[in-house]
Amino acid sequence: MAQKVEKSDSEWAKQLTPQQYAILRGKATEASFSGEYDSTFDPGTYRCAACGSELFASKTKFEAHCGWPSFYDSIPGSVEFHDDTRMDVVRTEVTCATCGGHLGHVFKGEELSTPIDQRYCINSLSLCFTPDNN
Ligand SMILES: [Zn+2]
Repeated sequence: MAQKVEKSDSEWAKQLTPQQYAILRGKATEASFSGEYDSTFDPGTYRCAACGSELFASKTKFEAHCGWPSFYDSIPGSVEFHDDTRMDVVRTEVTCATCGGHLGHVFKGEELSTPIDQRYCINSLSLCFTPDNN
């Protein structure tokens, strides 16, 4: 699937904070328990901090005690998956399907008590939360 939003590195650097740029474009990881959405469970929608696409619904967010916002599912078609071989184990990187921004990783088969046995481990800095109106 072709990305719908394409910008140069210098355009992204102007739009994003240095911390957001390091994660979304440089695939860095924020420090655990540092993110503003780690323990947020208000109803609403989590959007891509770079392009604003809707990525995760708050109803799929759960407390995984891992120090990053965790979701058991993503909004259909909103994210893409890539093998990440930067560590000894192959991890599955999650990126925004619209702009290609790095969001985090997804882990499966952890025997979590969630409706789907997978954990999207996402950087708060990659997300922008929009609360529901009611
Ligand atoms: Zn995006």
